[in-house]
Amino acid sequence: MTTRATELLRVVHARPGVTRADAARMIGVGTGAATELVGRLGQAQLLAEGPTAPSGARGRPTTALIPHPRGPLIAAASITHESWRVDVVELGGSVLATAGENLAGRGGDEVVAALGAAVQRLRQEHGDRIRGIGISVPGTVSRDLMLDASQLGWHDVDLAVAWPRAETFVAGNDATLAASAESRRGVAVGASVALHLRIEAGLGGAVVDGGKVLIGALGASGEFGHMPFGDPAVRCPCGAYGCWGTAVDGSALARLLGHAAPRDPVSYARRIINSPEPGPVAATAAVATALGRGIAGLVNGLDADLVTLGGLGVDLLAAAPEQIAAAYGAGLMDFRRAAPPPVLPALLGDDGPIAGAAEEAWTALLTRLV
Ligand SMILES: [Zn+2]
Repeated sequence: MTTRATELLRVVHARPGVTRADAARMIGVGTGAATELVGRLGQAQLLAEGPTAPSGARGRPTTALIPHPRGPLIAAASITHESWRVDVVELGGSVLATAGENLAGRGGDEVVAALGAAVQRLRQEHGDRIRGIGISVPGTVSRDLMLDASQLGWHDVDLAVAWPRAETFVAGNDATLAASAESRRGVAVGASVALHLRIEAGLGGAVVDGGKVLIGALGASGEFGHMPFGDPAVRCPCGAYGCWGTAVDGSALARLLGHAAPRDPVSYARRIINSPEPGPVAATAAVATALGRGIAGLVNGLDADLVTLGGLGVDLLAAAPEQIAAAYGAGLMDFRRAAPPPVLPALLGDDGPIAGAAEEAWTALLTRLV
């Protein structure tokens, strides 16, 4: 019973509005068992039923499975290089409320405290329905929830402060979470080996193999921005020289244009990439070429069948598609050129990391609900 109930909740989470008949088929139970299961989950205030959208097909009316109006919720949070945000997310992924503000130069502990205050407020507003939290961060998170964000100069920031003693608390790297979300709800659904690359301040990403994110032995896999595809004379904030990330982000554009290192690297990069002036156009082309070449290296090495770009990668793909395609094509091994794996903008865009945080929190919470 419990396993089937969890399976049914997973199906409704993945496809809110699924019909009871379809959901029954997907978890392999008959209509009688499904009716009983739905009844129990309704009593537990986990699921509700509503009318399906009219399909035009004739036959008996069927009902759709939807989140219960008094059901559990999770808080999904994201911290970026410039701002933080918390969403309240119901089963199925819909966002019911949101809060956030700019970092305004504050340190990591202050930002996590502000985020925690917002979570507390939202929990009160939603009558204790919020049962867990997922946080996306621009850095690495240790098992005891300590955050290290070298690009922000944050070290040993205690994320647990956002909700001390939370029953469900998950946190992870933004690029990894965006990759996971893209493979569950985005353009990478169904890919065999999907490579997601996300450019913000620096470059991160993840490989999703058959729907499973490659985490690594220490949970720090996907630091593709720290492969030495860049200029060996440039030192990265991570301490290494020649990191690829320093050749494709806002710091690269500033260096090419002779500007000082920008305080708001993502907004700065977006302005440059979208500028029609000759200097910015040439700098954008150089960065796009460095991006395309590195993607080719990763596709050769990983045998990915799909590449998705998030963050500033979306802007670069729109502004300089020819430069990316030319460098990507030139770097691919001969046998891959006839059908190069597509390089696509991530469907979830800037919401990828927070969507991934929501998915991780829901995955953890669903096993505790029944
Ligand atoms: Zn580095």
